[in-house]
Amino acid sequence: MVPVVQLLAADVPELPFPDGADVLQVLWCPFDHEEGYAPRPQVYWWDGSRADLEPTDPPRSDGAHHQYLPDPCVLHPERVAEYPSWDLPEHLHDALEERFEQVEEETGWSYEYHLSVADGTKVGGYPAWSQDPDWPHCPRCERRMDHLLSVDSAEFDGESWRTWLAVEDTPAVGTVWELPYEERKSIQRAADLLLGDLAGLHLFTCTHCPDRPYAHRAGA
Ligand SMILES: [Zn+2]
Ligand SMILES: [Zn+2]
Repeated sequence: MVPVVQLLAADVPELPFPDGADVLQVLWCPFDHEEGYAPRPQVYWWDGSRADLEPTDPPRSDGAHHQYLPDPCVLHPERVAEYPSWDLPEHLHDALEERFEQVEEETGWSYEYHLSVADGTKVGGYPAWSQDPDWPHCPRCERRMDHLLSVDSAEFDGESWRTWLAVEDTPAVGTVWELPYEERKSIQRAADLLLGDLAGLHLFTCTHCPDRPYAHRAGA
């Protein structure tokens, strides 16, 4: 198993940690698994004050796909508001479609690409589905699970960068696409992960059940 994400409760106060836990860790098995030909994740909630928890150098898995082994990164979380896109109920989509088109005509902003769901690795919000939404249900209480977090191959693409590229990462001159390849990659794909065709892995959890069942969906 390789470490993929570690979040502290203090960094993400909106994340509903289970009682007594203040560290969230996501690891995954860096081989293809049947569910979507993607790594299989495991979610752990820890009490970070436990004296027996010590940092270790995780082993690099022999023979694993290198594109499933993230390069170490430090997170600089930024809060953004999201609105449903694929998850917008059909009657609302129909009711709003004309206004989406009008906004796009007047401003150049597309609701789908620029104004609703952010690409990139994130906590909460909506999964950036690459196909029809496929929300898992809790095997215990049968409620629809909540989106916990997504790990993405890229923070933005050729369209979404226009609104979802972080201000701090925006070059002082020109656009991110005019940067030398390695420099752009360090912004767009800092962890050097490649899931599917530049897709993401979406993790879901049930916050109603105390043992926090979880599930995942892989983008294509
Ligand atoms: Zn495995
Ligand atoms: Zn449940």
